[in-house]
Amino acid sequence: MVEPGTILCVSEPFAHVLSNKEHDYRCENCMKRADELKRCSACASVKYCSTKCQKSDWSIHKKECPCLKRFQPKIPTDSTRLLLRLVIRFNNSSTVQESKGVLALRRSFNNLMSHEKEITNDKNRCDQLSQHLFTLQKVTAGVIDLPSSRVLLQIFGKMTTNSFTICGEEMQPIGVGIYLGPSLLDHRCTPNAVITFQGKSLHLRAVAQIADPTPSNVFISYIDQLNSTAERRRMLMEQYYFKCDCSWCQDKDLVSSVCRIIHV
Ligand SMILES: [Zn+2]
Ligand SMILES: [Zn+2]
Ligand SMILES: [Zn+2]
Repeated sequence: MVEPGTILCVSEPFAHVLSNKEHDYRCENCMKRADELKRCSACASVKYCSTKCQKSDWSIHKKECPCLKRFQPKIPTDSTRLLLRLVIRFNNSSTVQESKGVLALRRSFNNLMSHEKEITNDKNRCDQLSQHLFTLQKVTAGVIDLPSSRVLLQIFGKMTTNSFTICGEEMQPIGVGIYLGPSLLDHRCTPNAVITFQGKSLHLRAVAQIADPTPSNVFISYIDQLNSTAERRRMLMEQYYFKCDCSWCQDKDLVSSVCRIIHV
């Protein structure tokens, strides 16, 4: 049994990007605000709060750096950059990551669903992917060998249906990341857990008593719970390709169908 307020787990991102609008204020690696940031001298596109953070980001940035340099003075959009970082991390896609805490969440990037079929039938998503690929081809030419178009489609599908918006101290969006363990958690419109961030570390906190805190008993809301049932269902279908049948959605359906009967 865990009580409301308990931290269920803490998870670090498999890949993350700091929003372009935050580059002058926050460290690219830990995402914390810092008065003094040191610029990567090679690409001049990213900044770090310390040598430690720069070293920690280097395993991924060393491949990203020449791509960003090529794109200067512009910088790719946040989602194109996340896709680039996932392509770079693709070699680690079978590595299992484990979240720390009372709730054990173990998952590899390979385990994520790609929703390949739904994406190929979704014109908006296909257009987004073409735009990302247009930029990716330009920036990676001669530096990174892109995987096959099928694999790129799968990576893009996993990215769009599993990314978490990383929020700052005032709950404002500051970036986006892929957190493997927490992406296991199912959606409920009345969740028993919420996600907050400290820098890039994701904290999953219980907001209700949970008798048996296993992955199948912990739920988060993927969207704003304050929207109407119809709106929530539309957003969940458009973004995550499923129809929510949680008790809250069913109750609200009951209310609206009773109202319809009364008004007829
Ligand atoms: Zn830092
Ligand atoms: Zn660089
Ligand atoms: Zn629901």
